[in-house]
Amino acid sequence: MSQWEYAPAPESRDIANLKPKYRPFIGGEFVDGSGDPSKTVNPATEEVLAEVGTASASDVDTAVKAARKAYERVWGPMPGTERAKYVFRLARLIQERARELAVLETLDNGKPIKESRDSDVPTAAAHFFYHAGWADKLDYAGFGPDPRPLGVAGQVIPWNFPLLMLAWKVAPALATGNTVVLKPAETTPLTALVFAEICQQADLPPGVVNIVPGAGDIGAAVVEHPDVDKVAFTGSTEVGKHIQRTLAGTRKRLTLELGGKAANVVFDDAPLDQAVEGIVNGIFFNQGHVCCAGSRLLVQESIADELLDKLRARVSTLRLGDPLDKNTDIGAINSPEQLAKIKELVASGEQDGAQRWTSSCPVPEKGWFFAPTVFSGVEQSMRIAREEIFGPVLSVLTFRTPDEAVAKANNTPYGLSAGVWTEKGSRILWMADRLRAGVVWANTFNRFDPAAPFGGYKESGFGREGGRTGLEAYLHVQG
Ligand code: NDP
Repeated sequence: MSQWEYAPAPESRDIANLKPKYRPFIGGEFVDGSGDPSKTVNPATEEVLAEVGTASASDVDTAVKAARKAYERVWGPMPGTERAKYVFRLARLIQERARELAVLETLDNGKPIKESRDSDVPTAAAHFFYHAGWADKLDYAGFGPDPRPLGVAGQVIPWNFPLLMLAWKVAPALATGNTVVLKPAETTPLTALVFAEICQQADLPPGVVNIVPGAGDIGAAVVEHPDVDKVAFTGSTEVGKHIQRTLAGTRKRLTLELGGKAANVVFDDAPLDQAVEGIVNGIFFNQGHVCCAGSRLLVQESIADELLDKLRARVSTLRLGDPLDKNTDIGAINSPEQLAKIKELVASGEQDGAQRWTSSCPVPEKGWFFAPTVFSGVEQSMRIAREEIFGPVLSVLTFRTPDEAVAKANNTPYGLSAGVWTEKGSRILWMADRLRAGVVWANTFNRFDPAAPFGGYKESGFGREGGRTGLEAYLHVQG
């Protein structure tokens, strides 16, 4: 297929205001963490972006103490009408610094600037706006009169949506009157530390938000700290299970948002060109580093060949490369470890006998990239049909009847999301009733809204984030 030629349109990296060194944020101050400093790297160029001071377990203890003090003396007793003003101010400041945050996110994570600019950062601001609106209305949220906050929330987030996952965690916690100790992922700490500057700019009382960069052991120190009342974790199912085991028998409240292997189900009456756009968005958005990615395409057998032809033609037009270029569709893979994992699973797909098709788009020599790939002839027993690849790789399976589609879609230990493509409203409702997934999108995919609760079934975790339901995870409510 012929492709448009695009002149380079790079966003300026100066907008990111990169500093040579970033430090943990505890008790309202940036402090020298006593952990070993780490370096954060641009995955598209492999250059070091900045040094990051990390927290030690004793810094986590200091952060939890600061959060406890702020909770008891200031934030917990503060009327919701006052808390709302702070949360609103955070939202406004994220908007004001949106370009800086978007460029910084793209540099640190590798995602295309058009995604960080048009999706991650605006949605992060939207979460703060939405929750600011709840802060003074909790008495009327249906949780009984005067629902109380839990106390100190320990929050651990992954690298795929660094600022957005922070917003999903911090906004509801603050709106409901809790204070926070948050650990960003080791490979993507920068936007969280700029958010700490925003907390200072907003005059947020010291200790209400604390950010402790570090690796998994610091996440464990946050989760296991005895004075943390609530743990919220987003990441791999493996670490989620470990956290659940660790917290079993303690009084801590827990929500887990873990992996997924979502089915995107296309029936023979679906508008195919529209479905192709949805399939592309479902698996190639954010390089497929999305827990709710539509990584298993289930297509009705009678239209499989036609749909696959259209899909390959469309995927051939995706532009891979410099994430700062405004025309880039697919950016860099966040780390060499993740790239190795993708390659290993792709090799297993080939060994198991699935047919691999990979776009012939040019791939930069420097940096960590993986060209968009579609496997057809995939059997349910193959690893590429069962395991989360977390990369730009789609596994295509076929079905003949709606019952078979449901059986195959639900044949996974996960249950985070699903998509249904059909022109029949009744079939959408029939499918949505049967799919064991926290979110079911109809004739669309990857739509997010702070008002819509998000969360999983089975090994995708439990608890909901967003919406009125998401508030409950941060409140003592009357049963
Ligand atoms: P992890 O689950 O290891 O990381 C998520 C967060 O938890 C990070 O901040 C990590 O720290 C931290 N962490 C690691 N170990 C512990 C622990 N024992 N206690 C508390 N916190 C801990 O995911 P990875 O980044 O290693 O990715 C591995 C795989 O997980 C991916 O290939 C993908 O399949 C899946 N994944 C799923 C995500 C989702 O949204 N569902 C998000 C990210 C990954 P640090 O990173 O600094 O070591």
